[in-house]
Amino acid sequence: MMVLMDAAATAEQIQSVTECIEAHEMQALRLPGDEHIAIGIPSAIPPTLRDPLTQKLSALPGVDHVVQISRPYKLASREFHTVDTVIRIKGVEIGGSQCVVMAGPCSIETREQIFEAAETVRSSGAKILRGGAYKPRTSPYAFQGLGQEGLELLKEAGDASGLLTITEVMAPEDVALVAAHADILQIGARNMQNYALLIAAGKSGHPVMLKRGPSASLDEFLLAAEYLLFHGAHNVMLCERGVHPLDRTYTRNTLDLNAVPALKQITHLPVIVDPSHGTGVAKYVPAMARAGLAAGADGLIIEVHPHPREALSDGAQSLTPEQFADTMEELRKIAAAIGRSL
Ligand code: PEP
Ligand code: MN
Repeated sequence: MMVLMDAAATAEQIQSVTECIEAHEMQALRLPGDEHIAIGIPSAIPPTLRDPLTQKLSALPGVDHVVQISRPYKLASREFHTVDTVIRIKGVEIGGSQCVVMAGPCSIETREQIFEAAETVRSSGAKILRGGAYKPRTSPYAFQGLGQEGLELLKEAGDASGLLTITEVMAPEDVALVAAHADILQIGARNMQNYALLIAAGKSGHPVMLKRGPSASLDEFLLAAEYLLFHGAHNVMLCERGVHPLDRTYTRNTLDLNAVPALKQITHLPVIVDPSHGTGVAKYVPAMARAGLAAGADGLIIEVHPHPREALSDGAQSLTPEQFADTMEELRKIAAAIGRSL
């Protein structure tokens, strides 16, 4: 349930709505509204209380109207927050009219590699540098990432290139360290339902990009985002990165582009598409990047490596700097065709 106040509601009127909700032992959340101040009740309301509470709140001075939120997630729902959320970080907007590209290697490997990647993706028009320092690898024998040293290299490369940075955090106890080194925390597909991690990332208040689990429904995805929002994150974006495929012969995952228009309808959060993990094959990445933008994504995250054949992870799906530059040219045309910029 959400209470929308009159545009001219006074602080006392807002306070009495909050007190009325709290008198029923429910939490009242003050939300950054559109033109009105909104007060939300994030918890489920017992069916017998729904109508009397709606009537009581509707009658309070300063209240414009009360809306029921039918979705299981509340803060992530567009019923709750009708306009698109635009995330602003150091002059970069995510979720606005400009589409944003995040690019860089799967893993940070060496200083040379991340600096070279930063320079090439910046010169092609990316705004955000990606690179993993803590890697969720299927095998414990595979390269696990450089850890803190990788975070430091990412920060240096971001500062030197003027790019924002995004990197994965895998453990709740690492959230503060990762947040101190990167502009956006990435929660990976395998950790989408790691609730301790979601709570810690939410409490940090740092921007978060949450990747969809390979078998997660959109409701499960949005309920995971709800954890972040409920625990204090305001700047949350969602990333479709492919779901378990029917056939792994030719592609690694199936990029679920249905999710893009569906998410844009049911949530106000920005939606990012990852065509690299979505296909697992570099030669298919440009087509699915174009398709992602055409479907309405607010941005893309693309793996780019100065020398993909030497990459310590995900080389097969990484674009070379030249392939990335060509892809960005094509993406600019798609963005223009749908009335957006890149
Ligand atoms: C990654 O971005 O390198 C990654 C591991 O992605 P995902 O969590 O989507 O598999
Ligand atoms: Mn990867």
